Amino acid sequence: MIIEPARETEVVAETEILILGGGPAGIAAATAAARTGARTMLLEKYGFLGGMGTAAMVTNFCGLHASINGSVQQVVRGVADDILERLDRLDGLREPHPVKATGGGHDIAAQAYDTSAYKMAADDLLLSAGVDIRFHSFAVGVAMDGPCIDAVLVETKSGRKAIKAEMFIDCSGDGDLAYWSGAECEKGDATGFMAYPTTMFRVANADDEKIHNEGKPNLTQLIAEAGDDYDLPRKTGVLGSQPHAGEWRVNLTQISRDGAPIDGSDWDDLGYAETEGRRQSQEYFRFLKDRVPGFENSYLLETAPQIGIRETRRIVGEYQLTKDDVLSCRDFEDSIGCNGWPLEQHLQGNAKWTFLAGRGYHQIPYGTTLPKGVDNLLVAGRCASTTPEGQASLRVSGPCFAMGQAVGTAAELARRSGVTPSEIDRQALQARLVADGAFIGDAQL
Ligand SMILES: Cc1cc2nc3c(=O)[nH]c(=O)nc-3n(C[C@H](O)[C@H](O)[C@H](O)COP(=O)(O)OP(=O)(O)OC[C@H]3O[C@@H](n4cnc5c(N)ncnc54)[C@H](O)[C@@H]3O)c2cc1C
Repeated sequence: MIIEPARETEVVAETEILILGGGPAGIAAATAAARTGARTMLLEKYGFLGGMGTAAMVTNFCGLHASINGSVQQVVRGVADDILERLDRLDGLREPHPVKATGGGHDIAAQAYDTSAYKMAADDLLLSAGVDIRFHSFAVGVAMDGPCIDAVLVETKSGRKAIKAEMFIDCSGDGDLAYWSGAECEKGDATGFMAYPTTMFRVANADDEKIHNEGKPNLTQLIAEAGDDYDLPRKTGVLGSQPHAGEWRVNLTQISRDGAPIDGSDWDDLGYAETEGRRQSQEYFRFLKDRVPGFENSYLLETAPQIGIRETRRIVGEYQLTKDDVLSCRDFEDSIGCNGWPLEQHLQGNAKWTFLAGRGYHQIPYGTTLPKGVDNLLVAGRCASTTPEGQASLRVSGPCFAMGQAVGTAAELARRSGVTPSEIDRQALQARLVADGAFIGDAQL
């Protein structure tokens, strides 16, 4: 240990609502907060928005759609529509494509996009809403004032800065603000297991016509046939076509260390995962070229800027969404949005899918966004309050957009009424969300 000298930190800005993190949750939270008229600032460590969607090159929206009584319908609306519309205008969006047949034989759907278009669409959305975006701002801590956050501390190229706000929203994916401010958090299941991470990569110059004529490759079978010829720790995965000809995303690697998934909130593990992810990407690409029809002449276009992290900290909030809530399509009085994505559990060597029964989507309760013990903080996205199994469904982009829009709106309701986020009039929140185009349930309550 060394002792650093005490120092004064400049308060570089004061705002009304401060959002940490520019992934799908943060994009929707900032847009919704700014549209209420509140002075809104978003901090992001990278120089672009999109979160895992761009930084980890996910390039595909899941959870925007559900299979409702056999037909695929969009169940996340509002700010999500504004992103889709901009992506479409930039020619960076594919039509929804079927993903997997559910137990009842119905398909769910996902929508692929270009990362560059997503970055530009998100810039435009936030700037047109009036959000003050501060890129290259790595948040490292908080200054507290009793049960409230007073300021977030950031490291920047110009040194350490403090930013004050009245309401804070944690969309860091890792629950950084919640953790630093002392809110109760969990990591992993009872054994500490967290979903396996993946380094995504994309290939170009694949032969779409051949793939189309011969049918989509059965990866599970081809990997099994490859046996020990390649080092392929994950035995099944996703090859998905992108909006433009010949380009495919590859979601196949699986990053572990000493036999367990790396911890995406651990500096040392994160560093290890980057080189291991690129090593595996080369190996899976070699397998694709050699063994998967249509990929013989493809080339490795790009590996993701960072390892893709599915799960780290989750807050233990007012309500923890469970596996049963998701699978039984449960309704909640304080619904703020809907989600129809199955449980997608990334286990060793494989991903396990469990589909929703009945209606095909559940409602998301406001209580999943309310941490305990901090009076001016809301949390949205993959670090919201769920059990590990609940997180395996709620973490995908669609529900993150829905939660984000809700917390952005709720933060201003709380600020304006001088109450904590848990004390706001939840029906007033719902009415505002519906008026702003969100879908919060069957009959919009
Ligand atoms: C390999 C992989 C494949 C996936 N596939 C899909 C898919 O096909 N479809 C789908 O919908 N979802 C998919 N997901 C899940 C989905 O992408 C994420 O769960 C989702 O992006 C979570 O959104 P979020 O806004 O909560 O957090 P994130 O997307 O993680 O965004 C958090 C943001 O906060 C920033 N940040 C974090 N900490 C700090 C800090 N201290 N200071 C400053 N900035 C900070 C990060 O840079 C990031 O931009 C996948 C995930 C992975 C890893």
